[in-house]
Amino acid sequence: MGKPTGFKEFDRKPEPYRDAMARLVDFKEIYTDHDDVHLATQGARCMDCGVPFCQSGEGCPVYNLIPEWNDLVYKGRWKEALDRLHKTNNFPEFTGRVCPAPCEGSCVLGVNEPAVTIKNIECAIIDKGFANGWVVANPPTIRTGKTVAIVGSGPAGLAAAAQLNLAGHSVTVYEREDRVGGLLMYGIPNMKLEKEIVDRRVNLLREEGVKFIVNADVGGEGKHSVSGEDLLSMNDALLLATGATTPRDLRIPNRGGNGIHFAMEFLLKNTKSLLDSNLEDGNYISAKNKHVIVIGGGDTGTDCIGTSLRHGCKSLVNFEIMPKPPVERANDNPWPLWPKIHRVDYGHEEAAVRDGQDPRVYSISGKEFVRDDDGNLLGINTVKVDQNFKVVPGTVEFWEADLIFISMGFLGPEHYISDKLELELDGRSNYLADYGSFQTSKKKIFTAGDCRRGQSLIVRAIDEGRLAAEQINTFLDS
Ligand SMILES: Cc1cc2nc3c(=O)[nH]c(=O)nc-3n(C[C@H](O)[C@H](O)[C@H](O)COP(=O)(O)OP(=O)(O)OC[C@H]3O[C@@H](n4cnc5c(N)ncnc54)[C@H](O)[C@@H]3O)c2cc1C
Ligand code: SF4
Repeated sequence: MGKPTGFKEFDRKPEPYRDAMARLVDFKEIYTDHDDVHLATQGARCMDCGVPFCQSGEGCPVYNLIPEWNDLVYKGRWKEALDRLHKTNNFPEFTGRVCPAPCEGSCVLGVNEPAVTIKNIECAIIDKGFANGWVVANPPTIRTGKTVAIVGSGPAGLAAAAQLNLAGHSVTVYEREDRVGGLLMYGIPNMKLEKEIVDRRVNLLREEGVKFIVNADVGGEGKHSVSGEDLLSMNDALLLATGATTPRDLRIPNRGGNGIHFAMEFLLKNTKSLLDSNLEDGNYISAKNKHVIVIGGGDTGTDCIGTSLRHGCKSLVNFEIMPKPPVERANDNPWPLWPKIHRVDYGHEEAAVRDGQDPRVYSISGKEFVRDDDGNLLGINTVKVDQNFKVVPGTVEFWEADLIFISMGFLGPEHYISDKLELELDGRSNYLADYGSFQTSKKKIFTAGDCRRGQSLIVRAIDEGRLAAEQINTFLDS
Protein backbone atom coordinates (compact mmCIF):
# COMPACT_ATOMS: atom_id res chain seq x y z
CA MET A 1 0.00 0.00 0.00
CA GLY A 2 1.58 3.25 -1.20
CA LYS A 3 0.16 5.88 1.10
CA PRO A 4 -1.71 4.66 4.18
CA THR A 5 -3.50 7.99 4.59
CA GLY A 6 -4.12 8.61 0.86
CA PHE A 7 -7.84 7.91 1.04
CA LYS A 8 -8.23 10.53 3.75
CA GLU A 9 -6.09 13.15 2.00
CA PHE A 10 -7.24 13.02 -1.61
CA ASP A 11 -10.67 13.30 -3.20
CA ARG A 12 -11.78 11.12 -6.10
CA LYS A 13 -11.15 12.99 -9.34
CA PRO A 14 -11.87 11.00 -12.51
CA GLU A 15 -10.10 12.12 -15.68
CA PRO A 16 -12.41 14.57 -17.46
CA TYR A 17 -13.78 14.03 -20.97
CA ARG A 18 -13.08 16.61 -23.68
CA ASP A 19 -15.39 19.63 -23.65
CA ALA A 20 -18.84 18.42 -24.76
CA MET A 21 -19.42 21.06 -27.47
CA ALA A 22 -15.88 20.64 -28.84
CA ARG A 23 -16.13 16.85 -29.08
CA LEU A 24 -19.50 17.00 -30.85
CA VAL A 25 -17.90 18.14 -34.09
CA ASP A 26 -15.80 15.01 -34.57
CA PHE A 27 -15.72 11.24 -34.01
CA LYS A 28 -12.40 11.31 -32.15
CA GLU A 29 -12.20 9.80 -28.68
CA ILE A 30 -13.91 11.74 -25.92
CA TYR A 31 -11.06 11.22 -23.43
CA THR A 32 -8.34 13.66 -22.33
CA ASP A 33 -4.63 12.85 -21.89
CA HIS A 34 -3.47 10.98 -18.79
CA ASP A 35 -1.50 12.89 -16.16
CA ASP A 36 0.98 10.72 -14.21
CA VAL A 37 1.04 12.89 -11.08
CA HIS A 38 -2.75 13.04 -10.90
CA LEU A 39 -3.04 9.26 -11.38
CA ALA A 40 -0.41 8.54 -8.73
CA THR A 41 -2.51 10.58 -6.29
CA GLN A 42 -5.64 8.70 -7.28
CA GLY A 43 -3.77 5.37 -6.90
CA ALA A 44 -2.73 6.49 -3.41
CA ARG A 45 -6.43 6.47 -2.42
CA CYS A 46 -6.46 2.65 -2.62
CA MET A 47 -6.59 1.17 0.90
CA ASP A 48 -5.08 -2.21 -0.13
CA CYS A 49 -7.99 -3.96 1.59
CA GLY A 50 -7.41 -7.38 3.11
CA VAL A 51 -10.35 -8.62 1.07
CA PRO A 52 -10.32 -6.51 -2.12
CA PHE A 53 -13.95 -6.70 -3.28
CA CYS A 54 -13.00 -4.72 -6.40
CA GLN A 55 -11.04 -7.61 -7.89
CA SER A 56 -13.40 -10.50 -7.28
CA GLY A 57 -17.02 -11.49 -6.71
CA GLU A 58 -19.24 -8.57 -7.64
CA GLY A 59 -16.16 -6.65 -8.81
CA CYS A 60 -13.88 -7.26 -11.77
CA PRO A 61 -14.96 -10.36 -13.76
CA VAL A 62 -11.37 -11.09 -14.87
CA TYR A 63 -10.03 -10.69 -11.32
CA ASN A 64 -7.66 -7.86 -12.25
CA LEU A 65 -5.02 -7.44 -9.52
CA ILE A 66 -6.27 -3.94 -8.78
CA PRO A 67 -4.68 -3.06 -5.41
CA GLU A 68 -1.30 -4.25 -6.74
CA TRP A 69 -1.31 -1.94 -9.74
CA ASN A 70 -2.79 0.97 -7.80
CA ASP A 71 0.23 0.73 -5.50
CA LEU A 72 2.71 0.36 -8.37
CA VAL A 73 1.28 3.42 -10.14
CA TYR A 74 1.49 5.43 -6.92
CA LYS A 75 5.17 4.48 -6.76
CA GLY A 76 5.76 5.28 -10.45
CA ARG A 77 6.58 1.62 -11.29
CA TRP A 78 4.45 1.61 -14.46
CA LYS A 79 6.12 -1.27 -16.29
CA GLU A 80 5.58 -3.62 -13.37
CA ALA A 81 1.98 -2.39 -13.18
CA LEU A 82 1.59 -3.31 -16.87
CA ASP A 83 2.97 -6.81 -16.28
CA ARG A 84 0.49 -7.36 -13.46
CA LEU A 85 -2.38 -6.00 -15.58
CA HIS A 86 -1.63 -8.29 -18.52
CA LYS A 87 -1.64 -11.33 -16.23
CA THR A 88 -5.43 -11.24 -16.04
CA ASN A 89 -6.63 -9.09 -18.94
CA ASN A 90 -5.59 -9.54 -22.58
CA PHE A 91 -7.07 -6.22 -23.68
CA PRO A 92 -6.96 -3.54 -20.95
CA GLU A 93 -6.93 -0.82 -23.62
CA PHE A 94 -10.55 -1.82 -24.40
CA THR A 95 -11.84 -2.23 -20.85
CA GLY A 96 -9.87 0.81 -19.63
CA ARG A 97 -11.91 2.87 -22.11
CA VAL A 98 -15.39 1.36 -22.16
CA CYS A 99 -15.87 -0.98 -19.19
CA PRO A 100 -18.65 0.31 -16.90
CA ALA A 101 -16.27 -0.67 -14.08
CA PRO A 102 -18.16 -3.00 -11.75
CA CYS A 103 -14.88 -2.94 -9.78
CA GLU A 104 -15.58 0.66 -8.78
CA GLY A 105 -19.12 -0.28 -7.76
CA SER A 106 -17.70 -2.74 -5.22
CA CYS A 107 -14.56 -0.82 -4.15
CA VAL A 108 -14.51 -0.92 -0.31
CA LEU A 109 -13.82 2.80 -0.15
CA GLY A 110 -17.23 3.15 -1.80
CA VAL A 111 -18.94 2.10 1.44
CA ASN A 112 -18.76 5.70 2.68
CA GLU A 113 -16.54 7.60 0.19
CA PRO A 114 -16.35 7.81 -3.62
CA ALA A 115 -14.53 4.77 -5.07
CA VAL A 116 -10.95 4.71 -6.38
CA THR A 117 -10.73 5.68 -10.09
CA ILE A 118 -9.72 2.14 -11.05
CA LYS A 119 -10.72 2.31 -14.71
CA ASN A 120 -8.71 5.48 -15.40
CA ILE A 121 -5.64 3.90 -13.81
CA GLU A 122 -6.06 0.73 -15.87
CA CYS A 123 -6.31 2.73 -19.08
CA ALA A 124 -3.29 4.87 -18.24
CA ILE A 125 -1.13 1.79 -17.51
CA ILE A 126 -1.81 0.16 -20.89
CA ASP A 127 -1.63 3.44 -22.84
CA LYS A 128 1.78 4.11 -21.30
CA GLY A 129 2.81 0.55 -22.13
CA PHE A 130 2.03 1.09 -25.83
CA ALA A 131 3.54 4.59 -25.88
CA ASN A 132 6.82 3.26 -24.45
CA GLY A 133 6.98 0.21 -26.73
CA TRP A 134 6.58 -2.22 -23.82
CA VAL A 135 3.70 -4.09 -25.47
CA VAL A 136 5.24 -6.33 -28.11
CA ALA A 137 4.27 -9.55 -29.85
CA ASN A 138 5.05 -12.64 -27.80
CA PRO A 139 4.76 -15.63 -30.17
CA PRO A 140 4.90 -19.14 -28.67
CA THR A 141 8.23 -20.93 -28.99
CA ILE A 142 6.70 -24.37 -29.53
CA ARG A 143 3.72 -25.37 -31.70
CA THR A 144 1.58 -28.34 -30.63
CA GLY A 145 0.36 -29.25 -34.13
CA LYS A 146 -3.27 -28.91 -32.96
CA THR A 147 -5.63 -26.55 -34.77
CA VAL A 148 -8.59 -24.55 -33.45
CA ALA A 149 -11.17 -22.60 -35.47
CA ILE A 150 -12.91 -19.68 -33.77
CA VAL A 151 -16.08 -18.19 -35.23
CA GLY A 152 -16.51 -14.52 -34.31
CA SER A 153 -13.82 -11.92 -33.64
CA GLY A 154 -15.37 -9.98 -30.74
CA PRO A 155 -13.63 -9.78 -27.36
CA ALA A 156 -14.56 -13.40 -26.49
CA GLY A 157 -13.13 -14.80 -29.74
CA LEU A 158 -10.04 -12.59 -29.57
CA ALA A 159 -9.28 -13.46 -25.92
CA ALA A 160 -9.64 -17.17 -26.65
CA ALA A 161 -7.44 -16.82 -29.76
CA ALA A 162 -4.73 -15.05 -27.74
CA GLN A 163 -4.70 -17.69 -25.02
CA LEU A 164 -4.87 -20.73 -27.32
CA ASN A 165 -2.12 -19.34 -29.54
CA LEU A 166 0.04 -18.70 -26.48
CA ALA A 167 -0.42 -22.38 -25.58
CA GLY A 168 1.06 -23.27 -28.99
CA HIS A 169 -2.09 -24.27 -30.88
CA SER A 170 -2.66 -22.95 -34.41
CA VAL A 171 -5.69 -20.66 -34.33
CA THR A 172 -7.79 -19.30 -37.19
CA VAL A 173 -10.52 -16.75 -36.47
CA TYR A 174 -13.41 -16.49 -38.96
CA GLU A 175 -15.37 -13.21 -39.09
CA ARG A 176 -18.34 -12.46 -41.36
CA GLU A 177 -17.77 -8.68 -41.35
CA ASP A 178 -15.00 -7.05 -43.38
CA ARG A 179 -13.07 -5.98 -40.28
CA VAL A 180 -11.97 -7.85 -37.16
CA GLY A 181 -13.21 -6.91 -33.66
CA GLY A 182 -16.94 -7.73 -33.32
CA LEU A 183 -18.74 -5.02 -31.40
CA LEU A 184 -15.39 -3.46 -30.50
CA MET A 185 -15.14 -2.56 -34.20
CA TYR A 186 -18.71 -2.19 -35.47
CA GLY A 187 -20.84 -1.64 -32.34
CA ILE A 188 -19.08 0.77 -29.99
CA PRO A 189 -18.56 4.04 -31.89
CA ASN A 190 -15.19 5.59 -32.62
CA MET A 191 -15.60 8.37 -30.04
CA LYS A 192 -15.66 5.74 -27.28
CA LEU A 193 -13.05 3.40 -28.75
CA GLU A 194 -10.94 4.49 -31.71
CA LYS A 195 -10.62 1.72 -34.24
CA GLU A 196 -6.82 2.11 -34.55
CA ILE A 197 -6.74 0.79 -30.99
CA VAL A 198 -8.62 -2.35 -32.00
CA ASP A 199 -6.44 -2.82 -35.11
CA ARG A 200 -3.26 -2.33 -33.06
CA ARG A 201 -4.14 -5.29 -30.83
CA VAL A 202 -5.35 -7.45 -33.73
CA ASN A 203 -2.04 -6.80 -35.55
CA LEU A 204 -0.13 -7.93 -32.46
CA LEU A 205 -2.17 -11.16 -32.45
CA ARG A 206 -1.36 -11.60 -36.15
CA GLU A 207 2.36 -11.14 -35.41
CA GLU A 208 2.02 -13.79 -32.70
CA GLY A 209 0.64 -16.22 -35.28
CA VAL A 210 -3.17 -15.99 -35.10
CA LYS A 211 -4.78 -16.11 -38.56
CA PHE A 212 -7.86 -13.98 -39.35
CA ILE A 213 -10.22 -14.62 -42.24
CA VAL A 214 -12.76 -11.82 -42.75
CA ASN A 215 -15.88 -11.81 -44.97
CA ALA A 216 -16.29 -15.43 -43.90
CA ASP A 217 -19.89 -16.16 -42.89
CA VAL A 218 -19.73 -19.53 -41.15
CA GLY A 219 -22.88 -21.57 -41.75
CA GLY A 220 -24.34 -18.88 -44.01
CA GLU A 221 -25.72 -19.30 -47.50
CA GLY A 222 -24.05 -16.40 -49.30
CA LYS A 223 -21.05 -16.08 -51.59
CA HIS A 224 -18.60 -15.80 -48.69
CA SER A 225 -20.05 -18.59 -46.59
CA VAL A 226 -17.93 -21.29 -44.96
CA SER A 227 -19.47 -24.48 -43.65
CA GLY A 228 -19.37 -25.07 -39.89
CA GLU A 229 -19.23 -28.82 -40.53
CA ASP A 230 -16.10 -28.32 -42.69
CA LEU A 231 -14.44 -26.27 -39.95
CA LEU A 232 -15.28 -29.02 -37.50
CA SER A 233 -13.75 -31.78 -39.60
CA MET A 234 -10.65 -29.71 -40.50
CA ASN A 235 -9.83 -28.74 -36.91
CA ASP A 236 -9.25 -30.36 -33.54
CA ALA A 237 -11.73 -28.02 -31.84
CA LEU A 238 -14.25 -25.34 -32.76
CA LEU A 239 -15.18 -22.33 -30.61
CA LEU A 240 -18.34 -20.36 -31.34
CA ALA A 241 -18.09 -16.75 -30.16
CA THR A 242 -20.71 -15.26 -32.43
CA GLY A 243 -22.26 -12.72 -30.05
CA ALA A 244 -25.91 -11.96 -29.27
CA THR A 245 -26.87 -10.34 -32.54
CA THR A 246 -30.66 -10.77 -32.73
CA PRO A 247 -32.24 -7.42 -31.78
CA ARG A 248 -35.45 -7.11 -29.74
CA ASP A 249 -38.09 -5.47 -31.93
CA LEU A 250 -40.93 -3.11 -31.00
CA ARG A 251 -43.97 -4.79 -32.48
CA ILE A 252 -46.56 -2.02 -32.51
CA PRO A 253 -48.76 -0.83 -35.42
CA ASN A 254 -47.09 0.74 -38.50
CA ARG A 255 -43.70 -0.85 -37.75
CA GLY A 256 -43.00 -1.56 -41.45
CA GLY A 257 -41.80 1.16 -43.80
CA ASN A 258 -39.17 3.87 -43.86
CA GLY A 259 -37.54 5.81 -41.03
CA ILE A 260 -37.35 3.06 -38.39
CA HIS A 261 -34.08 1.21 -37.92
CA PHE A 262 -32.46 -1.10 -35.41
CA ALA A 263 -29.70 0.70 -33.52
CA MET A 264 -27.03 -1.67 -34.79
CA GLU A 265 -27.80 -0.90 -38.44
CA PHE A 266 -27.28 2.80 -37.70
CA LEU A 267 -24.08 2.29 -35.68
CA LEU A 268 -22.47 -0.32 -37.94
CA LYS A 269 -23.02 1.66 -41.15
CA ASN A 270 -21.77 4.83 -39.53
CA THR A 271 -18.49 3.31 -38.36
CA LYS A 272 -17.93 1.48 -41.64
CA SER A 273 -18.47 4.65 -43.66
CA LEU A 274 -16.29 6.62 -41.25
CA LEU A 275 -13.43 4.14 -41.62
CA ASP A 276 -13.88 3.63 -45.38
CA SER A 277 -14.28 7.25 -46.43
CA ASN A 278 -14.60 9.62 -43.45
CA LEU A 279 -18.38 9.55 -44.10
CA GLU A 280 -17.91 10.79 -47.67
CA ASP A 281 -19.31 7.72 -49.44
CA GLY A 282 -22.80 8.43 -48.04
CA ASN A 283 -23.28 4.74 -47.14
CA TYR A 284 -24.80 5.44 -43.77
CA ILE A 285 -28.09 6.56 -42.23
CA SER A 286 -27.71 10.29 -41.75
CA ALA A 287 -29.47 12.01 -38.83
CA LYS A 288 -28.53 15.47 -40.14
CA ASN A 289 -31.40 17.95 -39.67
CA LYS A 290 -33.71 15.12 -38.60
CA HIS A 291 -35.99 14.81 -35.59
CA VAL A 292 -34.58 11.68 -33.94
CA ILE A 293 -36.09 9.41 -31.31
CA VAL A 294 -34.05 6.65 -29.69
CA ILE A 295 -36.17 3.97 -28.05
CA GLY A 296 -34.29 2.25 -25.23
CA GLY A 297 -31.39 3.20 -23.00
CA GLY A 298 -28.18 1.38 -22.13
CA ASP A 299 -24.86 1.68 -23.94
CA THR A 300 -26.43 1.12 -27.34
CA GLY A 301 -29.02 3.89 -26.86
CA THR A 302 -26.33 6.29 -25.65
CA ASP A 303 -24.20 5.50 -28.69
CA CYS A 304 -27.17 6.28 -30.99
CA ILE A 305 -27.56 9.62 -29.17
CA GLY A 306 -23.85 10.46 -29.50
CA THR A 307 -23.82 9.51 -33.19
CA SER A 308 -27.03 11.43 -34.04
CA LEU A 309 -25.66 14.54 -32.33
CA ARG A 310 -22.44 14.30 -34.32
CA HIS A 311 -24.46 14.14 -37.55
CA GLY A 312 -26.24 17.34 -36.49
CA CYS A 313 -29.77 16.07 -35.77
CA LYS A 314 -32.46 18.73 -35.37
CA SER A 315 -33.91 17.32 -32.14
CA LEU A 316 -33.33 14.29 -29.98
CA VAL A 317 -35.46 12.36 -27.49
CA ASN A 318 -34.61 9.10 -25.73
CA PHE A 319 -37.46 6.92 -24.40
CA GLU A 320 -36.90 4.72 -21.38
CA ILE A 321 -39.65 2.38 -20.19
CA MET A 322 -38.17 2.15 -16.68
CA PRO A 323 -38.71 4.89 -14.08
CA LYS A 324 -35.84 7.30 -13.43
CA PRO A 325 -33.36 5.59 -11.06
CA PRO A 326 -32.54 7.17 -7.69
CA VAL A 327 -29.51 9.45 -7.36
CA GLU A 328 -28.12 7.30 -4.53
CA ARG A 329 -28.30 3.54 -3.89
CA ALA A 330 -31.73 2.31 -2.76
CA ASN A 331 -31.94 0.22 0.43
CA ASP A 332 -32.32 -2.99 -1.56
CA ASN A 333 -29.21 -2.21 -3.62
CA PRO A 334 -26.40 -1.99 -1.02
CA TRP A 335 -22.63 -2.03 -1.55
CA PRO A 336 -20.93 -4.15 -3.01
CA LEU A 337 -23.69 -4.71 -5.58
CA TRP A 338 -23.60 -2.79 -8.86
CA PRO A 339 -25.14 0.61 -8.00
CA LYS A 340 -28.43 1.05 -9.88
CA ILE A 341 -28.38 4.83 -9.83
CA HIS A 342 -29.06 7.68 -12.24
CA ARG A 343 -26.00 8.16 -14.47
CA VAL A 344 -25.16 10.77 -17.03
CA ASP A 345 -23.21 9.12 -19.84
CA TYR A 346 -21.30 10.98 -22.55
CA GLY A 347 -24.25 11.20 -24.98
CA HIS A 348 -26.64 12.52 -22.33
CA GLU A 349 -24.13 15.19 -21.33
CA GLU A 350 -23.62 16.22 -24.96
CA ALA A 351 -27.37 16.49 -25.60
CA ALA A 352 -27.85 18.51 -22.41
CA VAL A 353 -25.08 20.92 -23.34
CA ARG A 354 -26.30 21.33 -26.95
CA ASP A 355 -30.06 21.38 -26.39
CA GLY A 356 -30.27 22.62 -22.80
CA GLN A 357 -31.85 19.44 -21.40
CA ASP A 358 -31.21 15.77 -20.82
CA PRO A 359 -32.82 13.84 -23.73
CA ARG A 360 -34.27 11.06 -21.56
CA VAL A 361 -37.99 10.60 -20.92
CA TYR A 362 -38.82 7.88 -18.37
CA SER A 363 -41.76 5.52 -17.77
CA ILE A 364 -42.86 5.79 -21.38
CA SER A 365 -43.80 3.17 -23.95
CA GLY A 366 -44.49 3.23 -27.70
CA LYS A 367 -48.17 2.70 -28.64
CA GLU A 368 -48.08 3.04 -32.44
CA PHE A 369 -45.87 4.55 -35.10
CA VAL A 370 -47.59 7.30 -37.09
CA ARG A 371 -47.27 7.53 -40.89
CA ASP A 372 -48.80 9.70 -43.62
CA ASP A 373 -50.90 8.29 -46.47
CA ASP A 374 -47.73 7.49 -48.46
CA GLY A 375 -46.30 5.53 -45.55
CA ASN A 376 -43.71 8.13 -44.56
CA LEU A 377 -42.84 8.23 -40.87
CA LEU A 378 -44.31 11.20 -39.02
CA GLY A 379 -43.62 10.14 -35.44
CA ILE A 380 -44.88 7.92 -32.66
CA ASN A 381 -47.77 7.90 -30.20
CA THR A 382 -46.73 6.94 -26.68
CA VAL A 383 -48.32 6.23 -23.32
CA LYS A 384 -46.95 6.60 -19.82
CA VAL A 385 -46.53 3.39 -17.78
CA ASP A 386 -46.34 2.74 -14.04
CA GLN A 387 -43.72 0.71 -12.10
CA ASN A 388 -45.37 -2.52 -13.29
CA PHE A 389 -45.41 -1.33 -16.92
CA LYS A 390 -49.21 -0.90 -16.80
CA VAL A 391 -50.52 1.87 -19.05
CA VAL A 392 -51.57 5.04 -17.22
CA PRO A 393 -54.97 6.01 -18.72
CA GLY A 394 -55.27 9.32 -20.55
CA THR A 395 -51.54 9.71 -21.26
CA VAL A 396 -51.39 9.29 -25.05
CA GLU A 397 -48.89 11.75 -26.54
CA PHE A 398 -47.61 12.33 -30.09
CA TRP A 399 -43.87 12.84 -30.72
CA GLU A 400 -42.65 14.06 -34.10
CA ALA A 401 -39.85 11.97 -35.67
CA ASP A 402 -38.13 11.56 -39.05
CA LEU A 403 -35.89 8.80 -37.71
CA ILE A 404 -36.49 6.28 -34.93
CA PHE A 405 -33.79 3.96 -33.65
CA ILE A 406 -34.85 0.82 -31.78
CA SER A 407 -32.33 0.03 -29.07
CA MET A 408 -34.22 -2.40 -26.87
CA GLY A 409 -31.52 -4.99 -26.26
CA PHE A 410 -30.79 -8.32 -27.89
CA LEU A 411 -32.62 -11.64 -27.76
CA GLY A 412 -29.65 -13.96 -28.28
CA PRO A 413 -27.48 -15.36 -31.07
CA GLU A 414 -28.63 -16.08 -34.61
CA HIS A 415 -29.16 -19.78 -35.16
CA TYR A 416 -28.14 -20.57 -38.69
CA ILE A 417 -24.78 -21.93 -37.56
CA SER A 418 -26.05 -23.77 -34.46
CA ASP A 419 -28.96 -25.35 -36.37
CA LYS A 420 -26.68 -26.89 -38.97
CA LEU A 421 -24.32 -28.14 -36.27
CA GLU A 422 -27.39 -29.47 -34.38
CA LEU A 423 -26.47 -27.75 -31.12
CA GLU A 424 -28.83 -27.59 -28.16
CA LEU A 425 -30.01 -24.16 -26.99
CA ASP A 426 -30.88 -22.97 -23.48
CA GLY A 427 -34.26 -21.51 -22.46
CA ARG A 428 -33.22 -18.07 -23.70
CA SER A 429 -32.12 -19.33 -27.12
CA ASN A 430 -28.39 -19.05 -26.34
CA TYR A 431 -26.03 -21.86 -27.30
CA LEU A 432 -26.27 -24.31 -24.38
CA ALA A 433 -23.03 -24.72 -22.40
CA ASP A 434 -22.22 -24.36 -18.71
CA TYR A 435 -20.04 -21.51 -17.48
CA GLY A 436 -16.83 -23.29 -16.51
CA SER A 437 -16.92 -26.07 -19.10
CA PHE A 438 -18.05 -23.99 -22.10
CA GLN A 439 -18.68 -27.27 -23.93
CA THR A 440 -21.79 -27.42 -26.10
CA SER A 441 -23.91 -30.52 -26.64
CA LYS A 442 -21.26 -31.60 -29.19
CA LYS A 443 -17.91 -32.81 -27.87
CA LYS A 444 -15.52 -30.85 -30.08
CA ILE A 445 -17.55 -27.63 -30.04
CA PHE A 446 -17.17 -24.96 -27.35
CA THR A 447 -18.86 -21.58 -26.97
CA ALA A 448 -18.12 -18.34 -25.11
CA GLY A 449 -19.27 -14.75 -24.74
CA ASP A 450 -22.64 -13.18 -25.53
CA CYS A 451 -23.83 -16.13 -27.68
CA ARG A 452 -23.59 -18.31 -24.54
CA ARG A 453 -24.63 -15.93 -21.77
CA GLY A 454 -26.71 -13.29 -23.62
CA GLN A 455 -25.78 -9.66 -24.22
CA SER A 456 -23.34 -8.54 -21.54
CA LEU A 457 -20.04 -6.66 -21.24
CA ILE A 458 -16.65 -6.70 -22.91
CA VAL A 459 -14.91 -7.69 -19.70
CA ARG A 460 -17.26 -10.70 -19.31
CA ALA A 461 -16.61 -11.71 -22.92
CA ILE A 462 -12.85 -11.55 -22.26
CA ASP A 463 -13.32 -13.65 -19.13
CA GLU A 464 -15.34 -16.29 -21.03
CA GLY A 465 -12.87 -16.35 -23.93
CA ARG A 466 -9.94 -16.91 -21.56
CA LEU A 467 -11.70 -19.64 -19.58
CA ALA A 468 -13.03 -21.40 -22.68
CA ALA A 469 -9.47 -21.43 -24.05
CA GLU A 470 -8.34 -23.16 -20.85
CA GLN A 471 -11.03 -25.84 -21.33
CA ILE A 472 -10.15 -26.33 -25.00
CA ASN A 473 -6.49 -26.64 -24.08
CA THR A 474 -7.31 -29.38 -21.56
CA PHE A 475 -9.55 -31.10 -24.15
CA LEU A 476 -6.75 -31.03 -26.75
CA ASP A 477 -4.24 -32.44 -24.25
CA SER A 478 -6.50 -35.33 -23.27
C1 LIG B 1 -23.76 -0.55 -29.41
C2 LIG B 1 -23.16 -1.34 -28.28
C3 LIG B 1 -22.37 -0.68 -27.36
C4 LIG B 1 -21.80 -1.40 -26.31
N1 LIG B 1 -21.01 -0.72 -25.43
C5 LIG B 1 -20.40 -1.39 -24.44
C6 LIG B 1 -19.56 -0.72 -23.53
O1 LIG B 1 -19.42 0.50 -23.58
N2 LIG B 1 -18.92 -1.47 -22.58
C7 LIG B 1 -19.06 -2.82 -22.50
O2 LIG B 1 -18.42 -3.46 -21.65
N3 LIG B 1 -19.88 -3.49 -23.34
C8 LIG B 1 -20.55 -2.80 -24.30
N4 LIG B 1 -21.38 -3.47 -25.17
C9 LIG B 1 -21.50 -4.94 -25.03
C10 LIG B 1 -20.27 -5.63 -25.61
O3 LIG B 1 -19.87 -5.00 -26.82
C11 LIG B 1 -20.54 -7.11 -25.84
O4 LIG B 1 -20.97 -7.68 -24.63
C12 LIG B 1 -19.28 -7.86 -26.33
O5 LIG B 1 -18.75 -7.27 -27.49
C13 LIG B 1 -19.59 -9.34 -26.58
O6 LIG B 1 -18.46 -9.95 -27.12
P1 LIG B 1 -18.55 -11.29 -27.98
O7 LIG B 1 -17.16 -11.57 -28.38
O8 LIG B 1 -19.31 -12.31 -27.24
O9 LIG B 1 -19.45 -10.93 -29.26
P2 LIG B 1 -19.41 -9.76 -30.34
O10 LIG B 1 -18.57 -8.62 -29.92
O11 LIG B 1 -20.84 -9.49 -30.65
O12 LIG B 1 -18.71 -10.45 -31.60
C14 LIG B 1 -19.31 -11.49 -32.29
C15 LIG B 1 -18.76 -11.53 -33.70
O13 LIG B 1 -19.16 -12.74 -34.33
C16 LIG B 1 -19.41 -12.47 -35.69
N5 LIG B 1 -20.27 -13.53 -36.21
C17 LIG B 1 -21.53 -13.86 -35.83
N6 LIG B 1 -21.98 -14.93 -36.51
C18 LIG B 1 -20.99 -15.28 -37.36
C19 LIG B 1 -20.86 -16.31 -38.33
N7 LIG B 1 -21.83 -17.19 -38.53
N8 LIG B 1 -19.70 -16.39 -39.04
C20 LIG B 1 -18.69 -15.50 -38.82
N9 LIG B 1 -18.76 -14.51 -37.91
C21 LIG B 1 -19.89 -14.40 -37.17
C22 LIG B 1 -20.11 -11.13 -35.65
O14 LIG B 1 -20.04 -10.49 -36.92
C23 LIG B 1 -19.28 -10.40 -34.59
O15 LIG B 1 -18.20 -9.72 -35.18
C24 LIG B 1 -22.01 -2.78 -26.19
C25 LIG B 1 -22.84 -3.45 -27.11
C26 LIG B 1 -23.42 -2.74 -28.14
C27 LIG B 1 -24.31 -3.44 -29.12
S1 SF4 C 1 -11.81 -4.61 -16.48
FE1 SF4 C 1 -13.58 -3.39 -15.81
S2 SF4 C 1 -14.09 -4.31 -13.85
FE2 SF4 C 1 -12.02 -5.00 -14.31
S3 SF4 C 1 -10.63 -3.49 -13.36
FE3 SF4 C 1 -10.99 -2.81 -15.43
S4 SF4 C 1 -12.68 -1.36 -15.30
FE4 SF4 C 1 -12.69 -2.58 -13.43
